[in-house]
Amino acid sequence: MEVSVIGYPRIGAFRELKFCTEDYFKGSISEKQLKENAGKLRSVQWKMQAHNGIDLIPSNDFSFYDGMLDTAVLLSAVPNRYQALNLDGLDTYFAMARGYQGEKGDVKALSMRKWFNTNYHYIVPEMEDNTFIRLSGSKPFDEFLEAKAQGILTKPVVIGPLTFLKLAKYKGKKQPADYVDEMIRAYADLLARMDKLGAKWLQLDEPILATDLEKPDIVLFNHIYSLLLSHKGHLNILLQTYFGDIRDCYTDVTSLSFDGIGLDFVEGKETSSLIANNGFPKEKILFAGIVNGKNIWRNNYEKTLQTLFDLQKSVDQIAIGTSCSLLHVPYTVKAEKQLDEKIRNAFAFAQEKLKELSDLKILIKDSTFAQNPIFLTNTKLHGETGHKFEKSVRQRICELNETDFIRTPAFEKRAALQEDALKLPLLPTTTIGSFPQTKEVKTNRSRFKKGEITAEQYRENLRSMITACISLQEKLGLDVLVHGEYERGDMVEYFGENLSGFLFTTQAWVQSYGTRCVKPPIIWGDVKRTAPISVEISRYAQSLTHKPVKGMLTGPVTILNWSFPREDVSPKEIALQIALAIRDEVLDLEAAGLRIIQVDEAALKEKLPLRKSDWHTEYLDWAISAFRLVHSGVKAVTQIHTHMCYSEFQDILEDIDAMDADVISFEASRSNLAIVDALQKSGFKTAVGPGVYDIHSPRIPSKEEIISAIESILQKIKPQKLWINPDCGLKTRGEGETIPSLKNLVEAAITVRKQL
Ligand code: GLN
Ligand code: ZN
Repeated sequence: MEVSVIGYPRIGAFRELKFCTEDYFKGSISEKQLKENAGKLRSVQWKMQAHNGIDLIPSNDFSFYDGMLDTAVLLSAVPNRYQALNLDGLDTYFAMARGYQGEKGDVKALSMRKWFNTNYHYIVPEMEDNTFIRLSGSKPFDEFLEAKAQGILTKPVVIGPLTFLKLAKYKGKKQPADYVDEMIRAYADLLARMDKLGAKWLQLDEPILATDLEKPDIVLFNHIYSLLLSHKGHLNILLQTYFGDIRDCYTDVTSLSFDGIGLDFVEGKETSSLIANNGFPKEKILFAGIVNGKNIWRNNYEKTLQTLFDLQKSVDQIAIGTSCSLLHVPYTVKAEKQLDEKIRNAFAFAQEKLKELSDLKILIKDSTFAQNPIFLTNTKLHGETGHKFEKSVRQRICELNETDFIRTPAFEKRAALQEDALKLPLLPTTTIGSFPQTKEVKTNRSRFKKGEITAEQYRENLRSMITACISLQEKLGLDVLVHGEYERGDMVEYFGENLSGFLFTTQAWVQSYGTRCVKPPIIWGDVKRTAPISVEISRYAQSLTHKPVKGMLTGPVTILNWSFPREDVSPKEIALQIALAIRDEVLDLEAAGLRIIQVDEAALKEKLPLRKSDWHTEYLDWAISAFRLVHSGVKAVTQIHTHMCYSEFQDILEDIDAMDADVISFEASRSNLAIVDALQKSGFKTAVGPGVYDIHSPRIPSKEEIISAIESILQKIKPQKLWINPDCGLKTRGEGETIPSLKNLVEAAITVRKQL
């Protein structure tokens, strides 16, 4: 039984790739140095996997920014505006990822979207009518040869043609079907070249197969692969799926001449029954994804072995592997020395998952596995988890009734009262919360954490930064101000640190997009607020100005989705526990004089199940309720804002409206304001602030550009319902670009306001 890994994290155990890439952006290291560093990281990881007995080690899972972007470049899908910059290969690549503003021109970045139901973001390839798909890059070959030269025969990994075509954006008249022939030729060339280089396996990732497919998608899938597979030569092709089961196309997949089929046994609710009901072809290898690639908990060998024994009854050839790429988990538990050993033993990050796979490979062959010390240790550790139980929280949840989830009076009535109370101009301007995390901001936090300054000094520094931030916003002429979030490194970690029930890691970073990484807290016990969290700083910020300051909180669904949740209680129960804690904070902020409170649900859309049939029952029903519980207790005049990243929520507009916030801001600039149409059509009641410029790129938007964005939004949305804001928090930006951008934003709003 062979062991296969779908993909490995690539940022480096200490985020080395992030730091050297950022050095390259700053111009402090050369392209050559950057590439050398990347090569060293790849080498370490290949060797580590080989050392752990992984038989099919991935290559080309490395990326300087994102795998979809790599595939676009490999297939020559580089939009004209980036080619026209005439930069070299790597810089063109980074221009697509991050935008470019310099002597060669001024272009925005390609849009970014969440990768299925994860917190990883991919770059959306753009197809123009004159895009001609052909195999033009050499990255997969280079990396294969690089590993081979180090004595490791890898399994190259490439995103498959169907997933690529389905996720790309079509800018001209042409549709996916118009590119299919070119696509097949390009992938056929890829297969031929890999075969020639001596690869034994090639993995084509088709996670799109785990989503709801329409008939034409299945026809397209069959068409592409029946032609493509005739070019495979000696190469074995592994069709890899993940993030769910492939119920819509199982028989199509098993009928084609793939040599291996990778199925997800962790998130794929129907994977086992699909096999049991339809059988699995004798001549193919089933790559069973049994070690969870997304969570961080130790695998339960007893359960996993049971799954494998059951499978062996109907499948002849089985390989085992991860359920998806390990990209979504941190590197190693070993780095977390501060955690109690008992707690550490509950976890398995990427490196430990390699060991789990090799353990399972041993156990499955062992007829007396139940006596095997590997098995016995695993069983013992599983019996020893010590999650903390909070009786008072459980009790409060039991006592909740329907009215706790309903805010009164209804939206329209409150809107009128708020208008009177707040007296904001039309098209009020605001930001999403955070201001640039300058060196000073970060040093203040880190010195306090290390004990180098006292709590009082820390607070004093915070106060002076908040004072400067408020005065900057007044000078810029913004209408609704924020305190700047200087006390927060991360919007979830900050609340986690101030609530009981969370655990923290020091190096457990996971890539979010490009060089941005997140370090999700771990929800270990019942969640409870033991004291007010942000009340003191918010009250202070409000005391400095007559303009309204927004209290700034992170919502329960986002705290849950951006943490690693425990698995012994349901996500609904965890969300309600967090909601109660945030509800108490909302009420305290209101009592402290904050007239506007923003509860960010940046990650609400993220964990929407991939299958439509699961949307409400498995997620939205409790997620929306948790948000409503947070704010249902405030007065009518208190205005509740929420913020969501990424505007891909067209399909759940009704549910978003049902969150019953007064105002919602969201990303829209990078997705060309398509959401605005949908809002108009749906009769959305909540006031909206579609982001008028992209903060994920260092580019400064001009006043004219923002005016035209506002004008085009106003074609669809009434001015009484419209807010003007950037598309997300400004913390990742520098002051150099933030101040002129906001100046342009305010001036643009004033200009348009005068014309109304
Ligand atoms: N209030 C947060 C901020 O401004 C929101 C961030 C987010 O949506 N990711 O940083
Ligand atoms: Zn955001």
